[in-house]
This record gives sequence, structure tokens and C-alpha cells, in this order.
Amino acid sequence: MYVELKDVNKEFKGFRALNDVSFSIEKGKLVGLLGPSGSGKTTILRTLAGLAHPDSGDIFIDGKRVNDVPASKRGIGFVFQNYALFRYMTVFDNVAFGLTVEKKDKKFIKQRVNELIGLVGLEGLQDRYPHQLSGGQRQRVAFARALAPNPHLLLLDEPFAAIDAKIRKELRLWLRETINSLGITSIFVTHDQDEAVEVADEIVIVNSGRIEQKGNPADIYKSPATPFAARFIGESLVLDRHETLHGFETYSGYDKAVIRPELIQITKHGKQPILHASEDGIVEDVFFRGSLIEVHVNVKGMRLIGHRSPEEEPLLPGEKVSVLIYRLYLYNEDKVHLAENV
Ligand code: ATP
Repeated sequence: MYVELKDVNKEFKGFRALNDVSFSIEKGKLVGLLGPSGSGKTTILRTLAGLAHPDSGDIFIDGKRVNDVPASKRGIGFVFQNYALFRYMTVFDNVAFGLTVEKKDKKFIKQRVNELIGLVGLEGLQDRYPHQLSGGQRQRVAFARALAPNPHLLLLDEPFAAIDAKIRKELRLWLRETINSLGITSIFVTHDQDEAVEVADEIVIVNSGRIEQKGNPADIYKSPATPFAARFIGESLVLDRHETLHGFETYSGYDKAVIRPELIQITKHGKQPILHASEDGIVEDVFFRGSLIEVHVNVKGMRLIGHRSPEEEPLLPGEKVSVLIYRLYLYNEDKVHLAENV
């Protein structure tokens, strides 16, 4: 493992920001730290970078314990959400900054900076100042600047947050391709599940200073380890124990159940779905979502959301329907995954 955190704890004036955080990352992987605001994502990055110090626990990079290694000696590149470019420096000087500090040879700096400006697609813009660039271009400069000293590990804190939605999507794909082509181990922070799923090879879900699950996006989607993970990757409805629904009673010992909309089949009333028995429901709302139709159904007072194909016969609000749940994820009090099938 290239990066490893073992039982890392961090308190801020009695507030536990990181609670026994442990996870590891293979060399060359692009990993997304995903979690809500205040969950501890930035604190994890800062701890790795050496900008914050854990109260206990160990951090290893490339097999070496780095707890006592200063930030400047960890070989890490950092990209911040607000670019943090030097306003009075040109693109060239911003990218060259780390190399100038290291007192590298002028010829070497020129060659390396031009190479990086080419890599991030900003040829011809080297003499511009940050205010003469778009948000996407500024973030490319920040990325080139972080890469200039040839870091072994790249950390990116909400790198797309300040960028306009349209450009953001483009920049995400570009970043993924560029990082993969360089093969540099990278960790980025996001609170946006689409971003995490689209960009990351692996996702680490963070909640209240704890790691809920780590895995590739498809595995987390298919087997969410906790109700929180189910809610954070993909759409889902989480039901508490007292909210019983058809079939649930047959499982004892569960505390929460999670349902995915695409694992609910909604058919016209009277057309019995194959296999299992179904429940009756009334259509409350129907939303056209392009490649799918989202149908909200009231089943015994509970609102379930299911997906249908636009190819199927349309359903109308007020219509009586049959509802079948293909699969449930059931969890006990300790949030341990219990079972998957109805
Ligand atoms: P966001 O997505 O909003 O940036 P985050 O998941 O990155 O959130 P952190 O910035 O790591 O969360 O913060 C985790 C918790 O620790 C928050 O409740 C925050 O208020 C607290 N915290 C972080 N840094 C400090 C600090 N220097 N002093 C006091 N509390 C802090």
C-alpha cells in the first residue's frame, strides 16, 4: 500500500474531528474522499500533507512513517478549491514557484514549466495574470503548479467547487485522464456523489470523522456497507424498523432497510408482476427524467420512488398500481449489512 492511515484521531478543543480513521491506498490510484460538510475530509488531507498533526495514530507514505516529517519534506502536491494562485505573478511564475523556491537551474525551470503548461492545455497563456483567466484555466494553473516539483502524492481539496457547472464536468474528465496518464497517486475531496463516482477509481465515504466504507463506486453501489453509504452513493430510501412494509416482517433483527428506486417494479394494476406477490399502491407523482420516468407511489401511507422506462405504458397520478420490491438491503442496530433479498 502506498498511503496508509492507521487509527488516526484528531480533536479540536474537545471536538472529535477524526475518529480512528484507517484506510489505505494503492500506488497510482485516484481516490475520492466523499462526505457531507464538516465530516472531516479536509482534516484527513491536511493530516496527510503534514499541515495538521494527529493526536494519535500513524501515517505511512511509501512504507515510511511520516508523522514527524515536515510538510515540505513529504513530497506532496496540494491543489486547493480556491486556486490560491499568486495574484501578482504570471501563469509561468505561478507554475515555476515551487521550482524557484528549490533554487532549480533557470534552464531546467523554463523547460519543465513549458512542459506543464502544455500538459494542462494553456499554451500561449503563460504571460497572463490570474485575473485574466477563467475559473477552469486558473484551476489548471494550480494543478500544474502542484505537479511542478514532481510530487509522489497529489492532494486536491474540492478542486472543482469554485468552477461553473458546465466547465466542471469537462474539467473532471480532463483531470481523471491526466492523472491516470501520469500514474500519480491522488486523493481528492468532494461532497458531490456524481463527482466522486465519475472521477474516482475508489471512494472513501467519510461521516462524522469516521470511515463508513471504502471501495470502487460500483461495489459500494451494489453492496452499501451501511445505510449512510447507501444514501451517499445512488438514490435510496431508508426505512426505520417501525415502518413496516410487505415482506419486511419475515426478517427478524433488522433495524433499517434501504430500497433503491430501480429495484422497485411498478406495473399497471391487475398486471401481476412475475415471481413475488406485490403490494397495491396509488401513483402520486410522475416525473419525466429523460432516459427514465420517476414514479412516486403511495403504498400504505409510505411514499416509494420507482423508475420505469419511457418505453412502458405511461402511468398517471391517481392510478392504482402494483408494486414489487426486488431487493432490500437490511441492517441491524450496529449498521451491519444483514441481507439483500426480499
Ligand atoms: P467541508 O466539506 O465543509 O470542507 P470537511 O468534511 O472537509 O468539511 P473538515 O474541514 O475536515 O470537514 O472539518 C471537520 C470538523 O472539524 C468540522 O466540524 C470543523 O468545524 C472542525 N475543524 C476543522 N478544523 C478546525 C480547527 N482548526 N479548529 C477547530 N475546529 C476545526
